[in-house]
Amino acid sequence: MNQCLPFAAIASMLFAPMLYADEPLTGTVIGTQLCYDYEHYRQSISINTAKNLFDGDPETFFATYERSYTWAGLDLGEPHVITRVGWMPRNDTNGPKRVVLGMFQGANREDFLDAVPIFLNTQKGTVGQMDYADVDCSRGFRYVRYVGPSDSRCNLAELEFYGYPAEGDDSALYQITNLPTVIVNTVDAEEPYDKEHEISGNIIIISDNGTSILDKEGGIRERGNGSRVFPKKPWRIKFSKKQNVLDAPAKAKKWTLINNYGDKTLMRNKLAFDIAEKIGMEWVPYCTFVDVVLNGEYKGCYQLCDQVEVNECRLEIEEMTPEDNEGEALTGGYFVEVDAYAYDEESWFETPKYYLPITIKSPDEDEITDEQYEYISDYFAELEALVKDKNFSDPEAGYRQMFDTRSFIQHMLVNEVAGNTDCYWSTYMYKRRGNPIIYTGPVWDFDLGFDNDNRTYHSYNKKGYLWNNSTASSATGMRSFANRILLSDAGTKAETKAMWQEVRDNGLTPEWLKGQVDKYAEELDASQQLNFMRWPILSSYVHQNPVALGSYEAEVKRVKDFIEKEFAHLDDYIGYEANGISSTLTDENAPVEYYTIQGIKVLNPQQGQLYIKRQGRKARVVFSL
Ligand code: CA
Repeated sequence: MNQCLPFAAIASMLFAPMLYADEPLTGTVIGTQLCYDYEHYRQSISINTAKNLFDGDPETFFATYERSYTWAGLDLGEPHVITRVGWMPRNDTNGPKRVVLGMFQGANREDFLDAVPIFLNTQKGTVGQMDYADVDCSRGFRYVRYVGPSDSRCNLAELEFYGYPAEGDDSALYQITNLPTVIVNTVDAEEPYDKEHEISGNIIIISDNGTSILDKEGGIRERGNGSRVFPKKPWRIKFSKKQNVLDAPAKAKKWTLINNYGDKTLMRNKLAFDIAEKIGMEWVPYCTFVDVVLNGEYKGCYQLCDQVEVNECRLEIEEMTPEDNEGEALTGGYFVEVDAYAYDEESWFETPKYYLPITIKSPDEDEITDEQYEYISDYFAELEALVKDKNFSDPEAGYRQMFDTRSFIQHMLVNEVAGNTDCYWSTYMYKRRGNPIIYTGPVWDFDLGFDNDNRTYHSYNKKGYLWNNSTASSATGMRSFANRILLSDAGTKAETKAMWQEVRDNGLTPEWLKGQVDKYAEELDASQQLNFMRWPILSSYVHQNPVALGSYEAEVKRVKDFIEKEFAHLDDYIGYEANGISSTLTDENAPVEYYTIQGIKVLNPQQGQLYIKRQGRKARVVFSL
């Protein structure tokens, strides 16, 4: 034996034959019953069954009638810690690629509601050859299985599990990538199919590099509007009881899984939320990147986010009860959304002057009383009458007595920096009890931002604000409403300019934001590779994509280029003066003058010294040549 080997290595060689038993484990074969008879193009319960996976014959195979969420495995009789899995593709043309994203799982419940991944295969197979992978999972499982990737009929020729009998522990679980793995197992593996019906099951989250696990009862349904049409579905998960999740501040039942299908960088929402934090919005929803597995199928890279709702550590306003029908109790809290989709909702109204469609999010549609409905719709009618009034901009008598311009401007600026076409397609607002003023926020939904919309492509080239461009989307009347407040009121314009100056000076810079992009690209690297294996759309135009650059890296670079140009555009349009002077130099025909940083004019600038270079009305700090 080689004397240079450390003891641990020798020990592992000695014990390896015990841990990695030569013989694969045996047990009762379990799996999807309804199989597919290729010869007669029909379903069968006797041909191509799961038994073929364990007969040692590379020519016999397992194939199911259903194309997805089908599986086969073993009931081992008692828990085993699994050390290795092996598989062989079916001997046919498509066999080798049908095993890509095949998932191995372990469970201790016969219904697999507690199933967790133990290995995800990402490689093509070879006909006639077993492939093996070591499994790194310390929990013991009585039930083990292979779940075929989507649309594969679970086609496989051979399947093997290796390990030893043990209960094991949860000290080292399998996490698919560096990101937390969110696993949803539903009763009878039913797939969520709409926004109304919640499918019950277990929600499991493995995090902290496989050392933490949360396993709770809950449910899942689809969510969202436009994003629901894509094959990678957005979901809402709901725990049976309020739950802390990862490092999110809120303890809550409802959480969202955002699909980011049209956003090939997978980070646009997160970047916009960072901007909102920097601009100082009152509540910015929590979000973090995760990998998602549904009933054993790898579904891609998602964003786990707060549900936008009234809750502690979320939107913190008074939650109304059906008893709050008069006096101060009737004045709040209300959470509403100026919403292009309001007409599809149950609890909504339209304002009389601007025809703003407004969905009432809280109180809930099944709890709101007539008095409350009337109060908030009358409130908006009164507000917009003040906005329309000729004395609207009067700080005392105008709309400001009912409307918070600061949060409205913050919300707009986040959307402008993020180049979001949808700024006024959906706008959240909230009103507190006993406070006559309504506030805007939170920001939400930026998949079309950062120049990701063919209708407004190269949005930084548009004149003025993006939201005011005729090709940007807006809920009925909202653009006119915003126009009146943001562009017709000199006071608001001055407030916007002052806020822009302040946030820019306080670190909202293109360099900072591009740094966030680089940071997330690194964090997402392993997960984005799997995501685009599952959804090979990098060269396709999806949603409103203006371009399809074919690689993740190119999409990320595109966002960074956009950030550079968007800041220049906004600095120029709103007016930003770095160190008290404009950062841009556009008066090219004016004579050039140099000043010291203290503002003293210099007639003969020295080479390599720092000066303020002034040209007409514009100036910037430069090293002289
Ligand atoms: Ca076989």
